[in-house]
Amino acid sequence: MNPAVGYLTHLADQEGVTPIHNHEPSFWLRARLVDLHSRWNTGRMLTCRHVLTQPGGVFITALWLPEVMVCTSCAVDALRLPAAADLTCDRCSAPDPKTRAVAVDEQGVIVTFGLCPDCYRREMPA
Ligand SMILES: [Zn+2]
Ligand SMILES: [Zn+2]
Repeated sequence: MNPAVGYLTHLADQEGVTPIHNHEPSFWLRARLVDLHSRWNTGRMLTCRHVLTQPGGVFITALWLPEVMVCTSCAVDALRLPAAADLTCDRCSAPDPKTRAVAVDEQGVIVTFGLCPDCYRREMPA
């Protein structure tokens, strides 16, 4: 199991977290993932030092801050958000108190983002 999947499995054991297996990314999500890859490949991403010194570690990036990739310890501070931004959908930019946090494994890196109920249904058809 790759470390990112291991971490997601650990998250999925937490209360209120729903694991979704074999999720197929929407066109919107695919485009965001491609954007993350091209940022990384062209050196347009800031990282904590652990990303460089701990190959094989679990690293996290967020669609609300795609220029930053950090390890799970640094993510607590680096990716923390003011409460209002936390409830803004990363897909349609609508503020919604029911915005849900979503995390996916993208080739060993955890990509996290928020989806309002409408966008969540688009991304995760029941
Ligand atoms: Zn770190
Ligand atoms: Zn939305």
